[in-house]
Amino acid sequence: MSAKLTFCRTPGPGETRLCTDPWSFVYVRANGNVELCCRGEVVGNLGERSLEAILAGPESTRVRRGLLTGELVPGCKTCPRCSVVPLAELRRAVEHELFEAGVDELEALRRQVREHRVVRAELLAEREHLRGHVANLEAERPHLVAHAANLEAERARLLARVATLEREQLVSAVSPRAPRSLREGLRRWFASGGPKLK
Ligand code: SF4
Repeated sequence: MSAKLTFCRTPGPGETRLCTDPWSFVYVRANGNVELCCRGEVVGNLGERSLEAILAGPESTRVRRGLLTGELVPGCKTCPRCSVVPLAELRRAVEHELFEAGVDELEALRRQVREHRVVRAELLAEREHLRGHVANLEAERPHLVAHAANLEAERARLLARVATLEREQLVSAVSPRAPRSLREGLRRWFASGGPKLK
């Protein structure tokens, strides 16, 4: 059988047209009519339904099912563009078409998963870093608490020293000509606590 004849003749039992257009192409006319190939029948109009609804609608399904089963719609039956082939050959071609379309989606999903894994790894590394930082701060805390206690003790010591110095200054401010009993009295008074100086 010549190649020309496979285009011109009508498919017989167990045969169909070798065409995957209804699975991969959409033609939209200026008037809104939607076709699944440049020669197909109109399967809907965008003025009445969405493209998604048309592609999933009964008219589109009839074209695809016709090609897969051999019960072709009139446009496919007399189509001069596509050769006549056994049903199994078209099914293989459609499976390949769908697989190719799916590969892109699959690859996009894989890329997303890879990107999410990178972000997750970065977040986990950051968490470990922060945990290490917290552990260092915890280890440092006893030392800081002890240091604060030392500073408090030093502050008390210095305050006491300042108070002593100020008392001594007061005693020495008393005139040497003042009666000795007065200066001794002041010294004893300061030695016993005297005025509360800060
Ligand atoms: S009319 Fe021809 S090109 Fe259009 S879907 Fe049918 S077989 Fe394919």
